[in-house]
Amino acid sequence: MICDSDLSREFVQQGRGANCPVIDVHVHLGPVYTGWMPKWSIDGLIDTMDQAGVQVSVLCPHSALFSPDIGNEETLAAARRHPGRIRGYIGVNPTHPRNIEKDLANFDRNRDLLSGLKMLASYHRVLMDDDAYRPAWEYADAHRLAVLCHTWGGDGSEQSMRNIAARHPNARIIMAHALHGQWEDAIDIAKQYDNVYLDLCAVLDDRGPVERFVEAGLVKKLLFGTDNPWFHPHHGIGALLSADLSDEDRQDILHRNARRLFGVTIP
Ligand SMILES: [Zn+2]
Repeated sequence: MICDSDLSREFVQQGRGANCPVIDVHVHLGPVYTGWMPKWSIDGLIDTMDQAGVQVSVLCPHSALFSPDIGNEETLAAARRHPGRIRGYIGVNPTHPRNIEKDLANFDRNRDLLSGLKMLASYHRVLMDDDAYRPAWEYADAHRLAVLCHTWGGDGSEQSMRNIAARHPNARIIMAHALHGQWEDAIDIAKQYDNVYLDLCAVLDDRGPVERFVEAGLVKKLLFGTDNPWFHPHHGIGALLSADLSDEDRQDILHRNARRLFGVTIP
C-alpha cells in the first residue's frame, strides 16, 4: 500500500471510513451527450455515494447548466427526494440573463434545499466578472453564499476571480479545479482573499498540487470535489490517501472544511 495510515486501511478494507463521512462539494446529475456515465440518475448517484461513504453531495445537474428551458427544476427535485444527502447549487446561466432573476427568487423560496450558486463561465464564454453575472454576485454577497466557480488554467478565470473576490468579500468563492495547472496562482489568490476556497475536483489527477497547497498553509481552505457521476469518488479519495498528507489533513479536506463552510452537521 502506498500510504499506510488508519484511514487508508479503513477505506481499502471497507470502501469507506467509519469516522470520515465525506462531503462532495462538486457533483452533477443527469446524462450528457458527450460522455457515457453509468450512474447519472439520482438513485445511481446515491448508490455511488453509499459505496464511498459520501454523506452529502452538493450538486448542479447538467440540465441546470446547459438547458435554460429546464433550468433548476432537477436540482430542487433531487434535493427534495433525498433530504440531508443531496443539496443543490442554483446554476447561473449568463447567456440567459433574464432567467437569473427568476433563479435567484427560486433560491429564496428553497433555501432549505440549497447551498449556493454555480457558475460555469468559460463554457458559457462569459467571464465571471462580466456584468451579466452582477445580480448573482450581489445576491451571493448579500446572503454570504457559497459560489462554485469553474476555473481552469489559461481560461481567463484568474483575473476575474481576483476582481470578484475583492469586489464581493462576503461571497464564499469556491474555485473549482483550483485553476487547474496554474497552481501557484490558485495559491496566491486563496492566500490573499479570506473568502476564496479551492476545490480539488480534477486537481487529484496530478501528483503534487495537493501537497503544495497544504505546504502553503491552505489545508483549511481545501474542499473535496469529484464531478460525480463523471468520476467515482473512490478515485479522488484514493488519490488523497496516497498523497503525502496526514490523516488529520485528509479529514479536513474530505469533510471538516465543507461542514464549516456549508453548516452541515454530522447526523
Ligand atoms: Zn463540474
